[in-house]
Amino acid sequence: MTAYDFLLWFQGLSIVGVFVTLVMFFPSWKNRIHSYLFIFTASVLINNVGYFIEMISDNSVDCMWGTRIEYLGKIFISVGLLFFMTEYTGARLSTYTKRMVAVIHFLIVIVVFTNDYHHMYYESVLFSSEGLFPHNVYEHGFVYYIYIMMVAGYLVFATFSAVMRLMQERRRKRKFQTAIIIAIGFVMMGGIVVYSTGLAGGYDATVISYLLCLILMIVATIKYDLLAALDAVKNYIADNMTEGIVAVDTEGAIIYYNTIAERIYPTLKENDETVVTQILEAIEKDEVISIKKNYYKAEATDLTNERKTFGKLYVIDDVTIEHNHNLELKLRSITDGMTGLFNRTETLRRIEEGMASGDGVALVMIDIDNFKSVNDSYGHDVGDTVIKGVAKVMTDLTIYNPKLSAGRWGGEEFMLVMPATGIDEAVSAAEKIRTDFEKTEFQYAGFRTVSLGVTVFTEGDDADVFCKRVDEALYISKQEGKNRVTVK
Ligand code: GH3
Ligand code: MG
Ligand code: MG
Repeated sequence: MTAYDFLLWFQGLSIVGVFVTLVMFFPSWKNRIHSYLFIFTASVLINNVGYFIEMISDNSVDCMWGTRIEYLGKIFISVGLLFFMTEYTGARLSTYTKRMVAVIHFLIVIVVFTNDYHHMYYESVLFSSEGLFPHNVYEHGFVYYIYIMMVAGYLVFATFSAVMRLMQERRRKRKFQTAIIIAIGFVMMGGIVVYSTGLAGGYDATVISYLLCLILMIVATIKYDLLAALDAVKNYIADNMTEGIVAVDTEGAIIYYNTIAERIYPTLKENDETVVTQILEAIEKDEVISIKKNYYKAEATDLTNERKTFGKLYVIDDVTIEHNHNLELKLRSITDGMTGLFNRTETLRRIEEGMASGDGVALVMIDIDNFKSVNDSYGHDVGDTVIKGVAKVMTDLTIYNPKLSAGRWGGEEFMLVMPATGIDEAVSAAEKIRTDFEKTEFQYAGFRTVSLGVTVFTEGDDADVFCKRVDEALYISKQEGKNRVTVK
């Protein structure tokens, strides 16, 4: 077997080996380290295929294609390697730097693919009868030197930063991991030195260094559990935060939810996309989502990482306490604490609402008869029970007719607001209140009575005129002997 045959076999086997690695290893590809390893491995494969073509071609045209393919691989080998090393040791390159590197490499690819050897890559090439072998019968062009300088430059950078890292690292496991990266750097630099100086024919050295690097990178990747650990951290945070999280991709499919979200929406487990519809609707209308006895507020943010948008992230916050508190505040602001009836402001608002409705509105005003004497004879507390007695009679009425509003207009004055009600119906309501109250017996105060006024809204009334009229009706009831209903 000649040296040529040996190298040919070696190349062929390495292609198969790298290919098998690619197929075996990458189903589990899930993070950046993996993707850079993928770039490297795929590029080695391409590179070796190029080499192989060079070796078996016996004319400059075929051989040139081999070289082109070889350099396509070679160029991305170094990109994959550089990104892998820097990502691994945490000497992360900025996106800008990565782009610069990628662009320069890409330009070199264009040069390689659009030019013959002359002046760019090779000044001159001589072919033996067995293709481009041995390799020491060419002279390189300036693009080649740019390439070599670049690769050497950032290999030194990546290796140097790994060394710095190693010196700071105290933990054994991390030391070992960093040492692998340094080894990769040295293997690759060794390969380049041998290759560019033409030592050992230059030819085989890089292939061997690539394969060595690949093995080391695989070991490093298997040993690299930092990303998995970070994933665990993220999951822990996501599952222990108080908000529910639902993430959807750009097409709206659910891609993630945390345990809190699952607790809120158990159907998420069945991939129920109506959950997202419900959340979206609530956000659009700026409403709280009500589920069972709880209330949730949803917010949407774009799901982005390094300026790429992956979809939407919905954060669902349990606002039950605030919501109930707000409801209570609202209720408190419109009701009277002692009787639970609407307060004067709310009663007036409802009167105006009825006036504006166009359906008409009737008012019944109620005042307790001889109330001062209750206070004077039995004290304020007893007076209060009588006030609550009126409220009870009124609420009994509104329970059966929810469109009615019972309000406390003043100290011992009350107002029943009856939307879309005619005078007859209003009078019978007033009579009912009067008679129901009359029949109520109070401890100490005994049986009491009320006087009532009734009126309906007439076109042209403003709220003042309207309320004054019912007050006048009530006044007439008082004048005419109390415990009666007067219409005005
Ligand atoms: P009339 O039959 O003409 O209505 O005579 P009246 O004694 O009821 O007189 P008026 O309606 O003017 O009575 C108002 C009294 O109501 C004065 C005030 O002391 C009493 N009052 C007002 N608010 C309250 C309250 O919250 N509790 C109690 N106990 N008394 C109140
Ligand atoms: Mg009064
Ligand atoms: Mg009174």
